[in-house]
Amino acid sequence: MEPLTRTLRTAALLVFAVSLRAPVGAQSPPRRLVVLLAHADDETAASPALARYAREGVQVYMVIATDGSGGSGSQTYVQRSDSGPVGDALVKARVEEARCAAAALGVQEPVLLAFPDGKLGDYLGDRTLLYRLTDRIAKEIERLRPDVVTTWGPDGGTGHPDHRLVSDIATQLHRAGAPGMPERLVYMYLPAEAFRLANPQRAEPPMLIPQAKYFTVHVRFTPGDLEAAKKAIACHHSQFTAETLQRFLPAMQRLWNGAVPFIPGSPAVSGDDLFR
Ligand SMILES: [Zn+2]
Repeated sequence: MEPLTRTLRTAALLVFAVSLRAPVGAQSPPRRLVVLLAHADDETAASPALARYAREGVQVYMVIATDGSGGSGSQTYVQRSDSGPVGDALVKARVEEARCAAAALGVQEPVLLAFPDGKLGDYLGDRTLLYRLTDRIAKEIERLRPDVVTTWGPDGGTGHPDHRLVSDIATQLHRAGAPGMPERLVYMYLPAEAFRLANPQRAEPPMLIPQAKYFTVHVRFTPGDLEAAKKAIACHHSQFTAETLQRFLPAMQRLWNGAVPFIPGSPAVSGDDLFR
């Protein structure tokens, strides 16, 4: 064979091999992000980032563990100063609010697991309940097979026992390599200042919030993403009064400063020495 012919033939074979691996016009499946939350409105901590990824074509699913029935008392991180709906009316309202927020952010219909609000911390004292919740969350992860999972940090972000337990379960599934659980787990937080501004009457110290140096992932967002986030937050009528939103939204905007910070939940320490 002539050298040139041989070269052309090799090139043709290479093109053929590449075309087998990536057929022309083939689309990779959309990426998926699961946001594992204790309550409808928890997505507020990461909402501009969720809007951004939804806008970029990522399938974003909010999986909400509780039914929202306890969301009008002292357990909420941004308290209402007036009286909102209670009982079944509150549960119904919060389902609608979750759907409203999902639509505002452009994410998928929320997945509502309807466990009792404000009670997840008690599950630690009952293994049957703990396993039931773990199994339910594991099934959703296996069904959705996300590329990334985000949830509250192990401290619950605001210290809320419900937040702590969903974080604990997500971390456990991640470490155990549960079916469908991706390598990428990141923790979200409400900025400490925003928490303080929204809760001037609360005594919790900002020591609940990790030091800035641990936030090593900063997801930038556009002004349009921020507008979507503001609309989503305003959906949660049962949780935020207009007056609270007026204080809270500008504070969140200032604190985010164009990027939502996250802490990686995947192990950062490796090698053969704990100190290196
Ligand atoms: Zn919450």
